[in-house]
Amino acid sequence: MYYFDYPASTPVLFEVQKFQNEVENMFFANTESRHALAAKSNRFYKRLEEEIVRMLSDQFNYTFTSGATEANNMGIQGLLKKRKQKGNTVLVLPIEHASVLETMKKLKQEGMNIQYVPVDTRGVVQLDVLGEMLNTDVNMVVAMTVNNEIGVIQPYEQIRELIDTKAPEALFFSDCVQALGKFDIDFNIFDAFSASSHKLYGPKGIGLLAIKKSLVHESDRIGGKHQEGRRAGTIPTQLIGGLMKAIELSVKSCSENHEYVSELYTQLETEMKQLGFVTRPLDCVQSPYIFSCYHLGIKALPLQQYLSDNDIYIGTQSSCSEGANKQSAILTAIALSQEAASSVIRIGLSPKTRQEDLHVLVSKISEAIQKYSV
Ligand code: PLP
Repeated sequence: MYYFDYPASTPVLFEVQKFQNEVENMFFANTESRHALAAKSNRFYKRLEEEIVRMLSDQFNYTFTSGATEANNMGIQGLLKKRKQKGNTVLVLPIEHASVLETMKKLKQEGMNIQYVPVDTRGVVQLDVLGEMLNTDVNMVVAMTVNNEIGVIQPYEQIRELIDTKAPEALFFSDCVQALGKFDIDFNIFDAFSASSHKLYGPKGIGLLAIKKSLVHESDRIGGKHQEGRRAGTIPTQLIGGLMKAIELSVKSCSENHEYVSELYTQLETEMKQLGFVTRPLDCVQSPYIFSCYHLGIKALPLQQYLSDNDIYIGTQSSCSEGANKQSAILTAIALSQEAASSVIRIGLSPKTRQEDLHVLVSKISEAIQKYSV
């Protein structure tokens, strides 16, 4: 099997599974029960939380959620509910994940003024336009750190500076799902951010919403006082253990992995260009973990199917919109023609990818082009 769909989900690392099983075996008791075994589980859960604080930043409260979809839904809406007096406008990138874009549609129906900040053809936010759009009615700016379909990295430090100068009361919320563990980021730049364990070689069903300690959000989960009231529901200690271990391992080898994956990206770029693909050069606005490209001679879906029949797995657009069978909002926002957009494929790279894997992938793609050329 040759797997290249890492931006959609990653396999769980052996060390993560092992640690998670140990946690499950030893700390299965409900952290909220009133006996000694529960107290032990609760103490262990607190230790896991402390480790996450140590690795990411001590300026935030971390709420464990079912994943980043929930963290984005609850973080954005929950913060806005608690600070209505700070303004009625939200500025957002049109290339956000569906969990953010759908939240924006809901907020608009509820009467908020949702404004989309344009991106250029690389997918980078147009900072001059953002500067003009920022005013005292802006409550929040939502801009993801790394895009999940095309891998573009936003200039988040400059976005922060603009907010501080033009609308200092506005919050900066960032979806860091495709960035955590892959880049050295100073999370303190954000007022709130989200992350997901299954993009980091950790288990599915767990993610986090980090919110600066000075802020509060209204939780959409009620019926318990878990996580200091930030989200009701029994604490999944073993999943938080898996998330903690996944963060630890990815943060530890972050720069080494980045270097290796960048080499793979450059190799793939050269080979795909030779086949006639239009690629995105690896520069300071491109994540080496997400290789997005297209070839006008072959549509993405038959290519993906051909590879899948050969036990090779790539992505086309975000798996959350893939099922919806409509053109990606991201590709529309970067002004790609419909024809090009229907040919875009996404190849996820990983420290687990070997150079030989890329050779197999490229040679099968070459075969598919000959077979399906339009
Ligand atoms: N945000 C981004 C950028 C993503 O890539 C994804 C997953 O596809 C999500 C949010 C949603 O994450 P989860 O699957 O944990 O709900």
